Amino acid sequence: MAHQKKIIVIGGSAAGPKAAAKARRLDYHADIVILQKAPDLSMASCGYPYYVGGYFDDRNMLLCTPTGVTRDPLYYLNAKGIEAQTNTEVTAIDRQARTVSCTNLVTEEKQQLEYDKLVIATGAVPKMPPVPGTDLDGVTTLQSMKDADFLRKVRDEGKIKKAVVIGGGLIGIETCEALQLAGIEITVVELLPQLLTFLDWELAKLVENHVRAKSANVITDNGVVQFLGQDGKLTGVKLRNGAELACELAVIAIGVTPNVRLAKEAGLKIGETGGIEVNEYMQTSDEHIYAVGDCVEAFNRITGKKVLAPYGDVANLQGRIAGENAAVGNSVVFPGVIQTGICKVFDYAAGSTGLSETVAKRLGYEDIITVVNASPDKPGFMEGLLLVTKLVADRKTGKILGAQCMGPGNVSKQIAQWAMAIQGGLTVEDIVNSDLPYAPPFSLAIDHFIATAHIMQNKIKGRMKGISITEVKKKLENHEKPFILDVRGPDEYEEMRLGIGESIIPLGALRRRLNELPEDKDREIICFCKISLRGYEAALVLEANGWKNVKVMEGGIMAWPYARDK
Ligand SMILES: Cc1cc2nc3c(=O)[nH]c(=O)nc-3n(C[C@H](O)[C@H](O)[C@H](O)COP(=O)(O)OP(=O)(O)OC[C@H]3O[C@@H](n4cnc5c(N)ncnc54)[C@H](O)[C@@H]3O)c2cc1C
Repeated sequence: MAHQKKIIVIGGSAAGPKAAAKARRLDYHADIVILQKAPDLSMASCGYPYYVGGYFDDRNMLLCTPTGVTRDPLYYLNAKGIEAQTNTEVTAIDRQARTVSCTNLVTEEKQQLEYDKLVIATGAVPKMPPVPGTDLDGVTTLQSMKDADFLRKVRDEGKIKKAVVIGGGLIGIETCEALQLAGIEITVVELLPQLLTFLDWELAKLVENHVRAKSANVITDNGVVQFLGQDGKLTGVKLRNGAELACELAVIAIGVTPNVRLAKEAGLKIGETGGIEVNEYMQTSDEHIYAVGDCVEAFNRITGKKVLAPYGDVANLQGRIAGENAAVGNSVVFPGVIQTGICKVFDYAAGSTGLSETVAKRLGYEDIITVVNASPDKPGFMEGLLLVTKLVADRKTGKILGAQCMGPGNVSKQIAQWAMAIQGGLTVEDIVNSDLPYAPPFSLAIDHFIATAHIMQNKIKGRMKGISITEVKKKLENHEKPFILDVRGPDEYEEMRLGIGESIIPLGALRRRLNELPEDKDREIICFCKISLRGYEAALVLEANGWKNVKVMEGGIMAWPYARDK
């Protein structure tokens, strides 16, 4: 009888079970074992914030299949022919003998299992700030089912009144929302000058404004230096600037580190990013060992550099690749990531794919061009909602390098489109005539995605001289005196205005009121409206009438992240 292949998978949450299931589909006879340290299997960790926030109440929904079957060891055995051992920690890998040692954390029973192929899917561990007090009662992370259970209990008991979230990244913001929905007064403390660092500052600031509008407090540019407590219980956090915030709960969400301890001890190569080094087959420096998910480093398809991409979708995709290669030999490859992500922020979403302007500049991309577009996702009569997109492209080739989008509209669709454009190596010119699905319930006749490309095309061709809001703000701070022109109607102005010394001439009246513009045709004029579409039309009118230095403030008032007069 042919040798029955022994495949062992370490880690039983996202990437591990995916690898095991794929291997089973391709090799009916293989002996496949999942060794999982946690008590549960296949936890939908991305769903934890929504369980804590009360979007659903049945804990089991985090653990079950779409048809409601819990993914426990019995399920894996019966439905997949996979032996899954929970509460089982792998303590060592012996690469010479091709065995793993493990301990049952409940019975303390130890075993040694042989493998032909091993898949490491040990995930990531939360980073902890190196400050005193992290062991106090009331200080937690939101990384495991246990954490989710704890925070859900906090919600259900309703005793805690004040909480602090340390870290304004994806998990921090989602936790902030969850706790706010639980009726807790919440403050987010972020070390950097902005939340959500996958966004450029001006979009992140718009997100921050929305978080504040939901009565959550945000403190940026400040870090925690100590968790304060009494009788072992958290009573507050002390910040770098000396301020103390009273709270009974603190959730640490300052990012994750690849969990590579086992791999490192086994002598596998660890990359500079701190993740396990793998090739395109998801194979480690040992040909019999694959590694997938949050514990590995990934190849960035845009920059060619190694990065960390701790995302659930990536973990699942990599799991499939390693499962197939472990079962039938190296045959499929994982091409890498472009770092696409999205998160819910109360009534908004914020997402990004590819490079932000900040990251592109940090990596030395010098000749880039950016544009901001603010416009609705659908017609007004279908209750269209605002989207603000910032697009980053290579100036010479027009190739799309990155896009970020935020707002109450359908951000996910926008980011998905841009992600495919980047993966396909598309340019602005490729996108301007995209044939996308259109009907009013779903989009505008020219979808926000295409409209963004149109604005970029106009900018590249020099038809529109865009100026970013941050540049406008800088000019004002430097006491430069551009002529600022708001071309909205007086009613709109009464309702909402910047109050930065702008003159008001509605677009419809502009041709008749050109005498109100500066006599000096070289004077810098900056036009805008609510989203700067009328602002662009106004700029064309002014240019046709001889003004030579006319700019459009990109995104208009809707993309203005600073305080407004009204
Ligand atoms: C609150 C939260 C929200 C998130 N939201 C999103 C989102 O919206 N979108 C998104 O793309 N990603 C999201 N993520 C990230 C996503 O959950 C992870 O990228 C994904 O779970 C990684 O899968 P993994 O299998 O590599 O690791 P994990 O899911 O961390 O699983 C690793 C498993 O390995 C086990 N293990 C570790 N060491 C050992 C050992 N020595 N022996 C045996 N078992 C071991 C652990 O028990 C663990 O269950 C979120 C994460 C969290 C925590």
